[in-house]
Amino acid sequence: MFDPIEALKEFIRHPSVSADPAFKAGMHGARDFIASLLGRIGFEVEVVPTPLHPVILAERKGPDSWPHVIIYGHYDVQPADPLHLWTTPAFEPTVRGDRLYGRGAADNKGPLLTHVAAVARLLERRPDLPLRITFMIEGEEEMGSPSFPAFLDAKAERLKKADFVLLSDTGSPREDQIVITCGLRGLTLFDLEVTGARTDLHSGLHGGVLRNPIQALAEVCATLHDADGRVNVPGFYDDVLEVHPWEREQLARFGQSEAEYREFLGIPAFYTHKGYTPFEATRFLPTLEFNGIGGGYQGEGSKTVIPSKAFVKVSCRLVANQDPEKIRALVYRAITERMPKDVTFRLIEQHNGTPYVVVPPDRANTPADQSPVLARAFRAADAAIGEVFGKPPLYLREGGSVPIIADIKRKLGLDSVMMGLFLPEDNLHAPDESFNLNVMRKGMAASERILETLAAGGRGKA
Ligand SMILES: [Zn+2]
Repeated sequence: MFDPIEALKEFIRHPSVSADPAFKAGMHGARDFIASLLGRIGFEVEVVPTPLHPVILAERKGPDSWPHVIIYGHYDVQPADPLHLWTTPAFEPTVRGDRLYGRGAADNKGPLLTHVAAVARLLERRPDLPLRITFMIEGEEEMGSPSFPAFLDAKAERLKKADFVLLSDTGSPREDQIVITCGLRGLTLFDLEVTGARTDLHSGLHGGVLRNPIQALAEVCATLHDADGRVNVPGFYDDVLEVHPWEREQLARFGQSEAEYREFLGIPAFYTHKGYTPFEATRFLPTLEFNGIGGGYQGEGSKTVIPSKAFVKVSCRLVANQDPEKIRALVYRAITERMPKDVTFRLIEQHNGTPYVVVPPDRANTPADQSPVLARAFRAADAAIGEVFGKPPLYLREGGSVPIIADIKRKLGLDSVMMGLFLPEDNLHAPDESFNLNVMRKGMAASERILETLAAGGRGKA
């Protein structure tokens, strides 16, 4: 068995910044490191090329009667800039107190190695363990996983026979309160461009004969929400599922205060859909946001111009059971109906849409078609986390969108158990990123128990 903390240090020493071609050697080094580590603990390793950074697929095979878990992770990291804000250099891992500092320590090298170390220890103790395990480790997560969907397509025949995906690339609020993320919002994005006259006009010569496109744009944007914080588009909420009482109860146990949150945001008051707390709104409700708006003269001083064009960038976060295409069509229709007829406009799709994800844990609302292995995985995780961390996990939906989880569901039909191992103070994507080594030790113990329990249960009905 290797020393997990020494292994993590070695992993971090390879500067695997996927977005910057200058780090090609670091990408190569990190990939070789994790591939050879998996080889050493008995996995059959394949390095699958993609147009950019290869994916590592490492398998422990076995008969179909054994449960099959895919463990996802990524070996790439965010750039370390600004370098001068690091207490010790980003790619020279350093232990201070119970934390290991270095770029990628928490996102995602530490949590990924937690599972690798758990598997290594388990297989050392139980060489005949009846469990199939596939590690699927990509190198483009920090750049939006551009090659991942095509990789999934290419390997779908093999991968979709697995039972579920286990990963730790989400967060938890405190060391003693692990969160299992059981939902993510979807996303759809578009631009709206409004045109008035053919070209910019002199406001003295032509002012008073036409509607300014900035005005038309602002008028339409102002109709898209009502006074209570609801999106004012007919049909927008039609498919949104009722929130289960257990979800509200879990969230209440999260223990955040609204006053603290309001202060953190620096706003005088919340503007939240009636009947939902701010914490509920970010998880259970869809949104329509203006991400950028522009038009006309933006420079120093003044310029008496009637601009020809104005634009706004819009995004909608979506929840279960909303379809990105359908929502976009509803918003387009509302904009089209409300746009003044004395201007012209274009709607420009920016993204083909990320669907929402829900992975109902083993609770009252567990769907009948959930795989028995997944249901057992949730139960095993609940028990293992409770025993190791001292409290059972909370099951929460998150407000963000993780396209790979949606892709895994869409292309392989597999659900993901997202066990959050990084904490708010881990400084992800920021200087002085670190990973809490107690979380690593406990995470290993929990992962080991989960996998061992799964193996004991076989593949049939619980
Ligand atoms: Zn990550």
